[in-house]
Amino acid sequence: MDAEKTILWFRQDLRLEDNAAIAHTKGSCIAIYIWAPQEEDGWAYGEASRCWLHAALLDLDEQLRARGGSLLVIDASSSSSLVALERCVSEFQATRVVWNRRYEPSAVRRDTQIKQSLSKQGLVVESYSSRLLHEPTDIANQSGKPFQVFTPFWKACVQKEVEGITTEVPDQMEWEITNSTSEVKSRIESLKLLPTLPWGAEMMEHWEPTRQGALKRLKKMIEGGAKQYGDLRDRPDMDQTSQLSPYLHFGQIGPREVYHHLASLGDSVHSGYLRQLYWRDFAHHLLFHFPETATQPLKPKYALFPWQEDEGMKQKWREGKTGYPIVDAGLRQLWQTGWMHNRVRMIVGSVLVKHGLQDWMVGARWFWDTLVDADLANNTLGWQWVAGCGADASPYFRVFNPIIQGKKFDPNGDYVRHYVPELAELPTEYIHCPWDASEIELLAAGVKLGETYPEPMVEHSKGRERALEAYQKFKENNA
Ligand SMILES: Cc1cc2nc3c(=O)[nH]c(=O)nc-3n(C[C@H](O)[C@H](O)[C@H](O)COP(=O)(O)OP(=O)(O)OC[C@H]3O[C@@H](n4cnc5c(N)ncnc54)[C@H](O)[C@@H]3O)c2cc1C
Repeated sequence: MDAEKTILWFRQDLRLEDNAAIAHTKGSCIAIYIWAPQEEDGWAYGEASRCWLHAALLDLDEQLRARGGSLLVIDASSSSSLVALERCVSEFQATRVVWNRRYEPSAVRRDTQIKQSLSKQGLVVESYSSRLLHEPTDIANQSGKPFQVFTPFWKACVQKEVEGITTEVPDQMEWEITNSTSEVKSRIESLKLLPTLPWGAEMMEHWEPTRQGALKRLKKMIEGGAKQYGDLRDRPDMDQTSQLSPYLHFGQIGPREVYHHLASLGDSVHSGYLRQLYWRDFAHHLLFHFPETATQPLKPKYALFPWQEDEGMKQKWREGKTGYPIVDAGLRQLWQTGWMHNRVRMIVGSVLVKHGLQDWMVGARWFWDTLVDADLANNTLGWQWVAGCGADASPYFRVFNPIIQGKKFDPNGDYVRHYVPELAELPTEYIHCPWDASEIELLAAGVKLGETYPEPMVEHSKGRERALEAYQKFKENNA
């Protein structure tokens, strides 16, 4: 019998280390990436993610070349992943196809069909777990059902061991060279992942979107970041979170790798940082078990919530011109860097959904397009939390006060000064509430409200009252 020849299908696992599909492969292997945005159920990568993907594919090819192989990039945007795989199997006379699992509803559906189809053709088809600490099907409540609340989910998870990792790339396999470096470059370029606007290149200057970039971020957490994380993780003015989210999304680093490095420092599984990795698992657990939640609230009655349509308000929000400094800083950070601090994600979300009464999907779609870490599971969990319609959601009566949040989490106003430079000269006591400054103070700071910086799009107490009224009425009508 011929020796085993494997097609290794890279997807959201763009790394060679701690990669289960690789660890289970020996012999000759062809590495491929298939571009098929039409298979993502309307959640094809947004502009910012596409910039990241472009760089991540080049980096993966370079890593493969260092081991004697290369990445075959296939454009299947007008065919399908199945057709692309069948062609590869036939061209390379492969006997086996492997990949690491994804958990979005469209991917689960498609992968199941592909597995069935290729198996029927006599191929060995295997999928592995490499994206989460625990598989969504491995965690269940006492009645064997999926969890819908984080704390019991987390308590069930920490009873289980997190599978070990190997950071050595196994040498039992032989990568095949399928094309030259310049061919790979031109194939990636032909996918047109990069925008024509200079925005994309400027945004990516904030990042090193490679495996090395991920390892540097991890090292920073190991060398101290994780220790201070509990105290400082809510401070957007300080670089205290890991910013590993895009690397985790594209799989340039795996969660188990992060977990084991930090846990080996004696950091207990109860530590604040490791807990966040379980939030990520929880988001995937929910999306896997409740696939409709990508577009529908987990609490179904909220599908009837009477959101308002206000194009002007949506536009002000997207542009970071809401008149709330912390909100505008966050939305401009997003536009400039493709990332936003978690605390600020919650504040900007609350202002859109509660003060503005705009549908949470408006925010989810904007984040999808502009975040380099856009991730269907995490984004859905985050937005439904904000809107009060998801798992473990923020209760409807929690309406963040953007002024108090600003003063608490950006106490010196450094974050606002950086991203909203037109307010930079204001004294700190007014940086989160410029309308409280006197005419003379505004003049001295070069601020003219309504001209150089907008008035709030909805005054806070009015917005709060209106939101509470709308949510209360909705609750009564849909009890
Ligand atoms: C409205 C809203 C939308 C969001 N959209 C996304 C998204 O599209 N993609 C995304 O990765 N995260 C999303 N989050 C979660 C969170 O804001 C980011 O994961 C975090 O800010 C990333 O920064 P970090 O890597 O420095 O996080 P750290 O604080 O260093 O946390 C480490 C890792 O844990 C995971 N994590 C942290 N917080 C959460 C959380 N609340 N839910 C799920 N996983 C978490 C992330 O993978 C993160 O990289 C969203 C949150 C909100 C409130």
